[in-house]
Amino acid sequence: MRELKAKKSLGQNFLHNQDVLHKIIEAGEVTKNDLVVEIGPGKGALTEHLIKHAGKVIAVEKDPRLVPFLHTIFTSSAQLEITEGDALQYQPPKEPYKIIANIPYYITSPLLTHFLLEQYEQNNLPQLIVLLIQKEVAQRICHPNRNSVLSLSVKIFGTPELIAIVPPSAFKPAPKVDSAIIKISNIQAPLVDNPRKLIKLIKMASSSPRKKLVNNLAAALHKEKPEIEALLKKLQIDSTVRAEKLELEEWMKLFKEIERVL
Ligand code: SAM
Repeated sequence: MRELKAKKSLGQNFLHNQDVLHKIIEAGEVTKNDLVVEIGPGKGALTEHLIKHAGKVIAVEKDPRLVPFLHTIFTSSAQLEITEGDALQYQPPKEPYKIIANIPYYITSPLLTHFLLEQYEQNNLPQLIVLLIQKEVAQRICHPNRNSVLSLSVKIFGTPELIAIVPPSAFKPAPKVDSAIIKISNIQAPLVDNPRKLIKLIKMASSSPRKKLVNNLAAALHKEKPEIEALLKKLQIDSTVRAEKLELEEWMKLFKEIERVL
């Protein structure tokens, strides 16, 4: 069964580097008091470590071939609950939990939306998120002075941090690109009432990344440029910059001012 062919369509790159597995557990600050939700346990490399350190682990796996395999290797573990299904549809229990996982790259953005924005709306935010994802995406989320829709969608809820770069050789089969461990801590309700609307504003105002903020905003809000310039001046936001230069606090200030017309 360990020979089971990896499915590319499910982003199956299985971890085998023990060092990387330890770094993930350490970043997750996993203790026996924790309930950990693992997305995509695969053949159980990370699950094995999580079981050792956590109080309880719920592993959500989409590939029906892997579920009986996981049941076979973890027969005697009462702490582990294996659930077959799509993590993007999964509703975590209404109790404190952490998300710790090595995920398929292509679900990074929808997964973050599901466990941040959507769980905030369900009043069920995780305490902490640790993910192994594609390096470029990790760097984009954690960039110190350039924001994107994705990085801001994360920063609205918590503090992202790049923990370590992971080479392709840590996986079997090896992916074509580098990966990285990220940690999102200080997760809490945002300082605006409607983060979904805030993210919509950021998306609209970032639609043409090369254009200045003022032009993007005027187009998105169907307003004349001078009106937007005056608004930004009032808020002490430089209208000549590109959207990527705006900090979350500035987006929130802008959002509060124009929320009702969105
Ligand atoms: N955690 C294992 C490891 O580190 O070796 C496997 C990681 S592999 C990159 C990603 C895993 O996520 C695969 O087992 C794949 O079948 C599973 N997967 C893919 N899409 C999923 C989804 N939407 N929901 C849950 N699991 C998914």
